[in-house]
Amino acid sequence: MTTETITRFAGAFVDGREHANDGDPLAVTNPGTGEVFAEVAGGSERDVDAAVRAASSAFEEWSAQAVSKRGEILGRAARHLEEHLEELIPLLTREQGKTLRDSHIELTKAVDTLMHYVGLSKALRGAHAPNLAPGVDGIVLRRPLGVVGAIVPWNFPTTLLCNKLAPALVAGNTVVAKPAGTTPLTTLRFCELLCEGGLPAGVFNVVSGSGSVTGTALVTHPQIRKIAFTGSTPVGEQIMALAARGIKRVTLELGGSDPMIICEDADLDAAASAASMGRFYNCGQACLAIKRVYVFESVADGVIEAIADKARRLKVGRGDVKGSQMGPLHTAGQRDEVAGQVERTLAAGGTLLAGGAAPEDAELEGGFFYMPTVVADSPHDAPMATEEVFGPALPIWRVRDLDEAIERANASPFGLGSSVWTRDLQRARRAAERIEAGYTWINSRTKVYDELPFGGWKSSGYGKEHGMEAFDYYTESKSVVFGSQA
Ligand code: NAD
Repeated sequence: MTTETITRFAGAFVDGREHANDGDPLAVTNPGTGEVFAEVAGGSERDVDAAVRAASSAFEEWSAQAVSKRGEILGRAARHLEEHLEELIPLLTREQGKTLRDSHIELTKAVDTLMHYVGLSKALRGAHAPNLAPGVDGIVLRRPLGVVGAIVPWNFPTTLLCNKLAPALVAGNTVVAKPAGTTPLTTLRFCELLCEGGLPAGVFNVVSGSGSVTGTALVTHPQIRKIAFTGSTPVGEQIMALAARGIKRVTLELGGSDPMIICEDADLDAAASAASMGRFYNCGQACLAIKRVYVFESVADGVIEAIADKARRLKVGRGDVKGSQMGPLHTAGQRDEVAGQVERTLAAGGTLLAGGAAPEDAELEGGFFYMPTVVADSPHDAPMATEEVFGPALPIWRVRDLDEAIERANASPFGLGSSVWTRDLQRARRAAERIEAGYTWINSRTKVYDELPFGGWKSSGYGKEHGMEAFDYYTESKSVVFGSQA
């Protein structure tokens, strides 16, 4: 039963002001208590159309600005947003569930990403090909696409948005974003603050709503030129199919099941800490999380016990309570899915070393909690090996050597991140070359840098975010040849 007062929200921010959606309402729940505390009107096709039209009207003027001017405007808006982080942090924790510390890290990173692309707005250079023939030169122009639809999940609502928003806006596009149906509030306020900070009306718009209605309306809108999507692989496949009509551009940042390989010569304490941090951060709900560990059998007993011990010691609690190190899962359904994957893996033959159940603490009753869980030595075709586990449960296997570890690492439909722990540079290089993934960390884990391109291989996605490369996905190139004759 709900005991908190329910606040109602109009659900969209369009053309520089609040816009009242007319679709079905979405309930926003506090994952730490299970209580509904807000209701947000969902976006109908009409609401999406209003937002896309606003973005389309704003495009001409925005794209005509000098790129450095766009950067300057975005930078001012980002600074205004930064001044309000203390307001956004508890809001993000309340609707997402993560700890206040994790909300702080997420929001700070979101601002950093905006500022990174503000900086790059002064460094953008094109390509040219002089002297293609006597007196003939070529240049490559880059033009923005138009209106970009950004669809974002609930695990990092603001950083995943900024990965799209920042390069899209600096490149001269305008944006309509759709947050997940369960985390609309931080994104709506985020948009309002950027507009207050000077982003011109219509350049950035947000429409809350479900994937099936609002998301589909955005993907299929004829004036949308590109969809930048982060979410699950099945929805990514649907979006790619829908985007085929009109040959819309897409980037797809999808699921992952990142392997971690721990060799016998690694700094084993550091590796065990990284496994724990890399799996249980954000309650395991991260695309780039350590989701499978392969440890050399000669050192496996000690490493497995060290990881399990760290899991047992983690303080699970509500995100807004001081001292909590891991918050709840985002929804009851998400918790049940993870619990089911653990149960099916144990039934297939894995050994439970930590967790495996919801906490018994009466204070946590009602919230969507699950204890940090470690399962060792399950069969390699058990659910925790073959499916993405989007929560705090880590499977570990023993392997003979690097060849077996790499073979197991690659035996997954996913290819997002990966890590290798060894002091042997040749071994590290060999692993980095052979692991099928968009990122390989050597003696490090799951930190994404704005400077480096990020994107999955295989079922983990298509296209890149971050780095200079991101601009390629928000622009069309045109080759222009200056001939020698009239
Ligand atoms: P999801 O695919 O269910 O939803 C993501 C977004 O898509 C939400 O806004 C949702 O409303 C919308 N959506 C759903 N159906 C849609 C449709 N038919 N048309 C248009 N939009 C639609 O994903 P989720 O469960 O919310 O998020 C978890 C998944 O996201 C995990 O698989 C995780 O690995 C992945 N993820 C990937 C990255 C990455 O960068 N690769 C980052 C974070 C999360």
